[in-house]
Amino acid sequence: MAKPQVEVRRSRRRRNTVSAYREGDTVVVLLPARMSRAEEEHWVAEMLRRLQKSETRRRSPARASDEALLIRCHELTGRYLGGRAVPSSVRWVPPMRTRWASCTPAEGTIRVSDRLRDVPAWVLDYVLVHELAHLLVPGHGKDFWRLVRQYPKTDRAIGYLEGLSAAAGLRITTDEEE
Ligand SMILES: [Zn+2]
Repeated sequence: MAKPQVEVRRSRRRRNTVSAYREGDTVVVLLPARMSRAEEEHWVAEMLRRLQKSETRRRSPARASDEALLIRCHELTGRYLGGRAVPSSVRWVPPMRTRWASCTPAEGTIRVSDRLRDVPAWVLDYVLVHELAHLLVPGHGKDFWRLVRQYPKTDRAIGYLEGLSAAAGLRITTDEEE
C-alpha cells in the first residue's frame, strides 16, 4: 500500500492517549499537546504500523487468487441470493480506469479490479454481491437494488468505495454490464 498522508493533531485535553484513524486518503494522528518532536515521530510511525496491521487483518482471503474469489462468490450467493447466481468464472484483472468490477451475464463471468485487493473483506463482498446480482437482474433498477441490499453492508460499502475513488482522484463507479 502507498504511504498515506499524515496529519498530526495535538490536543491539550489529551494527556497520554494516542489514537489514529483514516479520513479519506489521510491518516489523522491525535497526540497530547505536550509531546516532544521525537515522541511525535515515534508515535506517528507506531500508529501507522498498527493501523496498517489492523487493515491487513480485515482483508479478504479472496484476495489470494481467482479460485479463492470464486469460492467467496459461492458463499455469498448462498447466503444472500438464495444460491441462484452461479458464476462460471470470477477473475482478478488489472486495474480498470472507471470500474471496480464488471460482468458478462450471458457468459456468467465476473472480473474484479486489482484495486480492490487491499480493501476490507466486507467491501469486496459487496462488490461481489453486486456483480452476482447482475447475473440475475440487468441494470440498476429497483429489483436489482432490492436483491443487492440483502447484503446488509451495501450502503456502507458504497460510501467506502466513493471515498476510495475520490481519494485516488479517480472517477470509478461500480460497473457497467457488458
Ligand atoms: Zn452494477
